[in-house]
Amino acid sequence: MFRMKIWFNCLLCAFLLTSAYATKAASLEVTLLGTGTPKPDIHRFGPSTVIEANGHYFLFDAGRGASIRLKQANIPIQQINHIFLTHLHSDHISGFSDLWSTSWIWQRQQPLHVYGPKGTNAFAHHSYQAHSQDIHFRTKNTGLSESASQLQSKEINDGEVVFEKDGIRIIAFLVDHKVVAPAFGYRLEYGNRVVVISGDTTYSENLIKYAQNADVLIHEIAAAMPAALKNNIKLQKILRYHTTPEQAARIFRKTRPRLAVYNHVLLFGIKEDEVMQKTGEHYDGKVMMGQDLMKIKVGEKISISK
Ligand SMILES: [Zn+2]
Ligand SMILES: [Zn+2]
Repeated sequence: MFRMKIWFNCLLCAFLLTSAYATKAASLEVTLLGTGTPKPDIHRFGPSTVIEANGHYFLFDAGRGASIRLKQANIPIQQINHIFLTHLHSDHISGFSDLWSTSWIWQRQQPLHVYGPKGTNAFAHHSYQAHSQDIHFRTKNTGLSESASQLQSKEINDGEVVFEKDGIRIIAFLVDHKVVAPAFGYRLEYGNRVVVISGDTTYSENLIKYAQNADVLIHEIAAAMPAALKNNIKLQKILRYHTTPEQAARIFRKTRPRLAVYNHVLLFGIKEDEVMQKTGEHYDGKVMMGQDLMKIKVGEKISISK
C-alpha cells in the first residue's frame, strides 16, 4: 500500500512537472501579413494576420495579397485550414478567393473552415458558386480532392469559443465598427500566452474586457491632421468608426498588454512618427507600429523580426 502511494506521488509529480513545463514553454508566433486598408499600397497589403500555435496556423482576415505575403513569410499556404473573418468589409476579404483556391491547389488536405459574422455563410456559398467551374476542371483533370475544395462556414456570436483543440482556444468578441455590425475581434489563448486582434473598431469596452492579460494586442489605428479633418464630413465619418491614437492609448491603459502593435494603418496627412508620439503622450507602455511581414514571437520574452 505504502509503495503504491509513493508510486502515485511520483506519477503526480511527473504530471505536474510536465504541465508546468508545457505552460512555461508555450509560445506563439504572430506574423503580420498585411497592415493596410482598402488603399492599394505596395508596403501595406490588405489586413491579414497569421498566428502559429502548437503547429497549427490560424489566419485572421484575408486582405489583398495575403497569399503572396504567406509565401514571403515562408508559411506553407496548404497548412491554412482555419480562417477567422473580423467582418465582411472588402479590404478584409479581397484576398480570400486566392487564398482558398491556391491552398487547395497546393494540396490542402481538408475543407477550409471559415468563421465570421452574419453574412459569412452567404459569402462562402457564393464564393464556392463563383469558383464551381474551376473546381470542376481541376478535380476532373488533375485529381484534386473535391472534398478538400469545400468551404465549411460558421457564423459566430459574442463570447463564443469558436475553436478549441490541442490546448488552443480562440474566442470571438463583438467590437464597435458602428454601422458595420456585427464586427468581431478575436482572442487566441495557448498555454499562458494570449494574443488579441481588434479587427476594425472604434473605442470598445467589450474589446477591453476580452483583451485583459493579453501578451500582445494588435489594434487598428486611424488618424488625420486637424486641417485634413476640418470641413471634411466624409473623413470625419470614417474616423468615427475607427480608433484614434488617443482612444488607442486609453484602451492600452485599461488592458496593459506586454506589447501593443498597430495595424490597419489608416492615416490622412499625418506621419507614423506623429501617431506614435500622440500615443506616447497618453500611454507609457510598449507600442509598435506594425509593418508587413513583421514576426512577433511571444514567449517568456517577446521578440520581433522581419
Ligand atoms: Zn478595414
Ligand atoms: Zn471595416
